[in-house]
Amino acid sequence: ASHESTHESSHEVQQLSSASGHLQVPYLVIVVPCYNESAVIEGTTHVLVHKIHELISSRKVSEHSAILYVDDGSRDDTWEKVGALRGIYGDVINGVKFAHNRGHQNAVYAGMMEAYENGCDCIVSMDADLQDDPQAIDEMIEKYCEGAQIVYGVRNNRDTDTVFKRETARAFYATMTWLGTNTIANHADFRLMGRGALEALSQYHESNLFLRGIVPDLGFKTERVYYKRAERQAGESKYPLGKMIKFALEGITSFSVKPIRFIMLVGAAAFVISMLMLVYIFVSVLRGHAVSGWGSIMASMWLLGGAILMALGIVGEYVGKIYLEVKHRPRYIIEERLGM
Ligand code: UDP
Ligand code: MG
Repeated sequence: ASHESTHESSHEVQQLSSASGHLQVPYLVIVVPCYNESAVIEGTTHVLVHKIHELISSRKVSEHSAILYVDDGSRDDTWEKVGALRGIYGDVINGVKFAHNRGHQNAVYAGMMEAYENGCDCIVSMDADLQDDPQAIDEMIEKYCEGAQIVYGVRNNRDTDTVFKRETARAFYATMTWLGTNTIANHADFRLMGRGALEALSQYHESNLFLRGIVPDLGFKTERVYYKRAERQAGESKYPLGKMIKFALEGITSFSVKPIRFIMLVGAAAFVISMLMLVYIFVSVLRGHAVSGWGSIMASMWLLGGAILMALGIVGEYVGKIYLEVKHRPRYIIEERLGM
């Protein structure tokens, strides 16, 4: 897609002669998922518009570059505010509104696909609360111009998170690594993706989306940019404990069948142990000991009962997932669009 106007041709020549391989400055779309973000959206817009203007005037991105808000079915006046902000700042503000709350991952995905269809060269996805440092975008664009298709924003510390969030997150990433899934530790969904990577991503049709697992799976040349994660500007976290657990389970069961194998191992071990027990009982009966083995029976009953229930739960998780996938329902429904 050509987004260069003729008066910038001298710049094009300069870019042509550079070793970057990119013939023109990229058309960037910043994708921002928003769920009940009325309290922060004005401040965020102010900062991001400023950032985009700065990038445009330093010729790092094309002048069409824009912000795309994805309103994830907010129940407050987030969407009205997006409209009002477009009134103030103009075409740089765009929006997509979901008919329902479909979750952060779907919102990010929808924004990326919308930008892709709109002919963008690259996107940067970031949170609405400015916890992801907009200053890191410069470096992301640089890496992109040097040929990276995916640039991860990685936090170099989590001082601003609560101890609980930090520890649960650490346990989560450790589990993912142990399960053999390729996730980038301390990378939330703050990342740049080029058109090639977006196209590859559009081929993934699973309705249970876990971008932090899928994106590293795409391949391509990737880079990292380190940044300091700030406090949420205003409002409260839209990721309460319940959603965090759901997210973690999604991640684990979307990418690994190891839990099922683990069940098989537990089952096999239980089988061996019960066989040994049978031998022991048989021998004691032969020796004439009328063992009143109430304790061991109860213990093994509970043990096995527990193991079976756990196994059923894990199998159920996968069956449920299959159920959701085969229904092939749309990931989200777009109710309204603004711009783009
Ligand atoms: N978000 C969303 N849908 C949801 C929950 C969150 O689009 O169902 C957005 C939210 O508006 C924000 C981003 O996802 O832009 C991250 O959420 P939040 O900052 O509340 O999470 P935390 O930083 O506490 O993990
Ligand atoms: Mg946040």
